[in-house]
Amino acid sequence: MVQSYLLMKEKAKEAKDRQTVKAINSTLRIAFLSKLYRTKFKILPKISKLSGIQQIPLTTKNDLRKSYPYGNLATDFSKVIEMHTSSGTTGRPTLSFYTKKDLEEGPKAISIAWANFGINNKSRVQFMMSYGLFSGAMLNTYAIQSLGAFVLPSGIQPTAKQVQLLQEFGIDTMVATPSYYLHLYDHLIQNNIPIKSLKLKRGIVAGEVYSDKMKKKISELFCIKVFDHYGLCEVNTGIIYECKTCGGMAVLDEYVYPEIINPTNGKILKEGQEGELVLTSLHKEASPIIRYRTGDITSIKTFFSKCPNCYGSVILERIKARCDSTIFYKGLKLEPFELRDEIVLFTGDKMYNRIKIQISEDLFKEKPKILLSLKSSTNNKSILRALQNHLREKTGVTFLIEEVPYSYFGDVTSTKEKIVEYVDKK
Ligand SMILES: [Zn+2]
Repeated sequence: MVQSYLLMKEKAKEAKDRQTVKAINSTLRIAFLSKLYRTKFKILPKISKLSGIQQIPLTTKNDLRKSYPYGNLATDFSKVIEMHTSSGTTGRPTLSFYTKKDLEEGPKAISIAWANFGINNKSRVQFMMSYGLFSGAMLNTYAIQSLGAFVLPSGIQPTAKQVQLLQEFGIDTMVATPSYYLHLYDHLIQNNIPIKSLKLKRGIVAGEVYSDKMKKKISELFCIKVFDHYGLCEVNTGIIYECKTCGGMAVLDEYVYPEIINPTNGKILKEGQEGELVLTSLHKEASPIIRYRTGDITSIKTFFSKCPNCYGSVILERIKARCDSTIFYKGLKLEPFELRDEIVLFTGDKMYNRIKIQISEDLFKEKPKILLSLKSSTNNKSILRALQNHLREKTGVTFLIEEVPYSYFGDVTSTKEKIVEYVDKK
């Protein structure tokens, strides 16, 4: 029995690999029509087996920025019907174009994730992320609608309005960033609105890297099942999802091909080895992308899932770090996202959702510093001392924690508040 399963798995995997090789070659041909890849490749590459992909150059965010605006466009503009951009907060945004075919195939692929979350024609989903240039909201909306579900595209609204919509339309599925979940929870508590007045069953928490601890907390606060969902504008939104059955991060690998590389030397890593996630689109027509360095750290749990609900998929670990974010301090590894979550969960509603974690390059001269603003004014000193002890226990590092006025973080409207303003490595 075990042997026949293994044989079946091997055969199925071989067939899948052949299909992937075919799709990669087809994507290479389309990509070669763009200025970006014509310049990068010089000659059209072709692979005969999956391992051949190692010979193909990687694509970086900087490559895309340099090719702004049309360098990565592989089709005539008359075929383009939609465009989205990355946030562009740290420089020029990167663009992703979509033809009619792209907008049929992309959402069709992502709908597999939504169906797995349990979304069907009876579901009511409120999407609390920015519509417009951000690709996540619109493309996921198309995918959810293709399952016949109701989507309330509330986007960015004052929190009172979001809550009113949740209540009035009996929303069972909420989509937001982890920081927005906490912000919304604070609002419910402050306004004496019981969680039970909402009909929420599940929460899709995405758009920011967050820890398992934060995931568990959101699940407990809202009494819902929480799912992680990963994607990026440059490749496609929503392409990696948390399977409700096995809990693994399943890759929609008929649509994208994942690899894990050593971020330092670019070598492909084996199953279980942690490294940078690299993605190749397999069916994009307007903006195909080859071996894109996502900057996100993860590892491959298995190349072929045997779970009935994500059978055959590549399964990844949850993404909890970025290549450029990990800080090494006196031999200790500090992950700002985990640190942020520790601070937020420890201080709870005593703190405004604004923190700055400041790490100097000369770590032996300057201690890592955390700047935050607290709501209370009477026992702030003891809160900060308790937080310092808590972080020392968790990380082994004594942080300098400073209270700053709320206005320190500038004029940010409450709906757009971010938990971490930025991590400064200067
Ligand atoms: Zn599964």
